[in-house]
Amino acid sequence: MNARLDVIGLGPGREGLITPEAQAALDAAKAVFGYGPYLDRIPPRDGQTRHPSDNRVELARAEAALTAAAEGSRVAMVSGGDPGVFAMAAAVCEAVEAGPETWRRIDIVMHPGITAMLALAARVGAPLGHDFCAISLSDNLKPWPLVERRLVAAAGAGFVMALYNPISRARPWQLGAAFELLRAQLPAETPVIFGRAVAREDERIAITTLAEADPAQADMATCLIIGTSETRVITRPALPPLVYTPRRAPA
Ligand code: SAH
Repeated sequence: MNARLDVIGLGPGREGLITPEAQAALDAAKAVFGYGPYLDRIPPRDGQTRHPSDNRVELARAEAALTAAAEGSRVAMVSGGDPGVFAMAAAVCEAVEAGPETWRRIDIVMHPGITAMLALAARVGAPLGHDFCAISLSDNLKPWPLVERRLVAAAGAGFVMALYNPISRARPWQLGAAFELLRAQLPAETPVIFGRAVAREDERIAITTLAEADPAQADMATCLIIGTSETRVITRPALPPLVYTPRRAPA
């Protein structure tokens, strides 16, 4: 049996930011599974079926794709950014671990993509130039007190932080709570970068400080980078500022 599932990172938005390998795997797929808005980003292809699903049903989506792959169809599962960053690759692994033995025979190929924090960092300079971490503010799959502990620990350890899933209609207060917590840990002038729809037509980037950061600037298509006390903002007369975190940390 030649069952195969390609798990594909589409990158942050612009066509040029998907890898040629991921694009080739996508082109070769007979059936494409994914969250509806991600599927909408892919031009339709003759002979390729699409299986959009809702945002919250990741395990069911993974199971459907594995079932189709096990039946012999060449299947692709798409995620925005990188499929291994708060996305479908782990859901596929979870489904395989809990699923029937036949799923362990499927050739599963993960195709990395440019994740939101890397696309955002590249737009403003090099804020991730020193040690950093990524934290999802969603408390759908973990308790909020755990998010709080991780934010405090990361700030205390001097990590730059990339925050994913900062806010949504169902989770309106978490980003404000995160800012409050971080204001007690980090200097008021700590740079904060908001990147909305990075590498898409409606991209909006804002550089501010922790003291002034307003949760209303973020929506569910926004990724944030919170600097450290080392992160610098270089103003330039005719160009946007450059934000970077030096590669050397003080002793
Ligand atoms: N797998 C994706 C992340 C999925 S979680 C990746 O690697 O980028 C969804 C979150 O990702 C959003 O709430 C937002 O925080 C972030 N995100 C995804 N695409 C983005 C983009 N183009 N611009 C800014 N943030 C983005």
